[in-house]
Amino acid sequence: MTTETPIVRLTDLRLDRGGRAVLRDINLSMPRGSIVAVLGPSGSGKSTLLSALTGELAPTAGRVEVLGQDVPRRSRALLELRKGLGVLLQGNGLLTDLTAAENVALPLRTHTDLPDALIQRLVLMKLNAVGLRAAADAYPRELSGGMARRVALARALALDPPLMIYDEPLTGLDPIASGVVMSLVRRLNDTLGLTSIIVTHHVHETLPVADHAIVIANGGIVFSGTPAQLEASTDPLVQQFLRGQPDGPIAFDAAPRTAEAA
Ligand code: ADP
Ligand code: MG
Repeated sequence: MTTETPIVRLTDLRLDRGGRAVLRDINLSMPRGSIVAVLGPSGSGKSTLLSALTGELAPTAGRVEVLGQDVPRRSRALLELRKGLGVLLQGNGLLTDLTAAENVALPLRTHTDLPDALIQRLVLMKLNAVGLRAAADAYPRELSGGMARRVALARALALDPPLMIYDEPLTGLDPIASGVVMSLVRRLNDTLGLTSIIVTHHVHETLPVADHAIVIANGGIVFSGTPAQLEASTDPLVQQFLRGQPDGPIAFDAAPRTAEAA
């Protein structure tokens, strides 16, 4: 960890959904320049954690600092902060009646007054960065799942955000496309000097590109360390999660939670 201000800092954070605590007592610092994998079983609160970073969900208690400032509640200040976040949410969110290039241009048209010729050039640079310059005029339906994911990645990069946030970036991708997307995430992080947070239950695809791993389960952080430390952990919670075992200290959450079980 470095001594400079972390790009994300969570202090004694509690997040509720539907009147119930999803995460509590979260303390976390993410250093600039790193790739942090936030791992955990489905329903453990990974997306909830991201929604606190983007200001979509206000904390019930504690503090959320992103890019050196408290995540603002006022919509204008929040909009300004969000320009610094490149967010790739579950599913690509590409507009189907726009070409790849038009999709990538959207944030530039919405948030800048740049002349059209410059926007076109920036769009081609972003598509080039994800290896898809040749697909500029293709519509999403003409792209493979992996290509569409990379277009969405180019769009998230459009405004040159210092912090990239990926929610389940591998969902629906085959192993080869998954490998391409993960190595792209690593390369973009390093060549563009970004910091990346990858939220996923795809442990084995994600750990090889991560610098730091966090596991959340049962409402809190149960592990924080390097991928190598994670693989070597003998913690029963971590073991159960890494091996995908149904029985163990992580409660299976498909059944409605009762007061006793929660
Ligand atoms: P993950 O992304 O790790 O799969 P989520 O953060 O989506 O988990 O969900 C964590 C918990 O919060 C789950 O129990 C889920 O049912 C609940 N939850 C998520 N969104 C809402 C919501 N809008 N209202 C009520 N409960 C929610
Ligand atoms: Mg999720």
